Amino acid sequence: MLIPVQTVLETMGPEILSMRDSKGHIPAHWACLGGHTAILRFIIENKGPINESSSNDLGARPIHWACVNGHIAIVDILLQAGVPLDCTDGKGCTPLIVAAQYGQTMLAGYLMGKGARLQMVDKDGDNALHWAAFKGFSELMRLLIYSGFNPRQKDNFGQTPLHLACINGNLTAVKELCEQDGVDINLADKNGKTPLMLATGRKHVDVIAYLKSEMKYRTSFLPRIDFWSIVFGPPGNHKGPILFFFVNVLCWGYPMYAFKCFPYTWNDLMIAHVLFFITNFIMWVCLFHASTTDPGYLPRNIPEYDLAIKQVAHFDEWKQGDNPLSRLCHTCRTVKTVRSKHCKICNRCVKVFDHHCPYIYNCVGYNNRLSFLGFSGTVMLNGLLSLYFTYYYMQISGEAWNIVYIFYVIVMIFFECVATYIFGYTILIGALNTTTNEQKNFKRYKYLQDKDGKYHNPYTRGWKKNLLEFAFILPLPQECDDVIESDFSTKLM
Ligand SMILES: [Zn+2]
Ligand SMILES: [Zn+2]
Repeated sequence: MLIPVQTVLETMGPEILSMRDSKGHIPAHWACLGGHTAILRFIIENKGPINESSSNDLGARPIHWACVNGHIAIVDILLQAGVPLDCTDGKGCTPLIVAAQYGQTMLAGYLMGKGARLQMVDKDGDNALHWAAFKGFSELMRLLIYSGFNPRQKDNFGQTPLHLACINGNLTAVKELCEQDGVDINLADKNGKTPLMLATGRKHVDVIAYLKSEMKYRTSFLPRIDFWSIVFGPPGNHKGPILFFFVNVLCWGYPMYAFKCFPYTWNDLMIAHVLFFITNFIMWVCLFHASTTDPGYLPRNIPEYDLAIKQVAHFDEWKQGDNPLSRLCHTCRTVKTVRSKHCKICNRCVKVFDHHCPYIYNCVGYNNRLSFLGFSGTVMLNGLLSLYFTYYYMQISGEAWNIVYIFYVIVMIFFECVATYIFGYTILIGALNTTTNEQKNFKRYKYLQDKDGKYHNPYTRGWKKNLLEFAFILPLPQECDDVIESDFSTKLM
């Protein structure tokens, strides 16, 4: 490829590098669009222009064309040659915005790692997140939101990314935005159109159904009752469940026990009472540990992150599916270990992330999964004992069931069911050596799939060893434990 270019330059002279084609592009535009690093270097060596705008009304510079096709190596060469990171084309688009328009997730990560300004908007007031939403690139949107983009920002038409995602009709993108704190799903743009109206106008049936159910839930005073949010907590940051637990145990569970149950049944049920003391003690210890311990946060601002951003340009040939940038967290500026995940609520990456539990008001991760199991197990035992005490008391006292007793039993049964489910589920995933997150999202993780894309867990070592690992008796495999030794960092050396 390079030799014909050299020949042309020798015969025509260096002025050829500044000549424009019929649409106003210089040779550097075409070298960048095609990803021809050798030719671009040759142009730079011969002092040819590399940052001229095209002389048509789009005014694109070569770096913008490189971004269209996601050529990280080209962008890297241009930046090293002094092209500004945030230079704009005729429409005010920066390289990051162009990367967003074409769904170039890896390049967008690279540009943000280099320090691209997130505040930049094009002439219509749209930033990179607006564009990613408009084009329906949900994976890229997630990266941008994690990296600090504001999902509520309006463009010059008063439209937020949610409006634009509803025009596109990508349901995953719409859900991603609705789950962000403070996103108003009924906001009208400058033409008076709400996201629902825009989706309706384009007949995106699944988006319409989702928005309607979301509105119903948001305008209702009742909390959303579905299985997932009762057991694993509603999305977002809520103190409700942990307060509900405290209020129930301290304000009437224990008083009922002290005044109604203990004095009348101690003599008959001594062993059960002693057991009740012990399980309560363990429950509080486990709850304290589970909710106050660092669940396994990965270190932030590590040098491996900066190294990876610098080196990633040389791995341009890595294809999207095998994206090494997916191992980077741009919020924590860290290299993620296998099985770790960034928790939206804690805003930190957590080692062996399981889920964010509102009952302990903390993430469940590697460091506190055992105390979390202990907490759910003891809540389950305490619930059983309480129900037994209630039954026994009602039998011997001959008191009639009144509304307070009935409500008490209903609340106890609720805690009993939730705790039993969580306890059983946590034991099960411990025995299988997986996590709630991996069970729910295995399609997002390459390491959880075999060649045919079916679920395959590489970390299971048989249920006995898995449970020993869960109880910290066996160590984690290296790649789950150590950022520096991860295969990604070694590939970079
Ligand atoms: Zn993170
Ligand atoms: Zn969390």
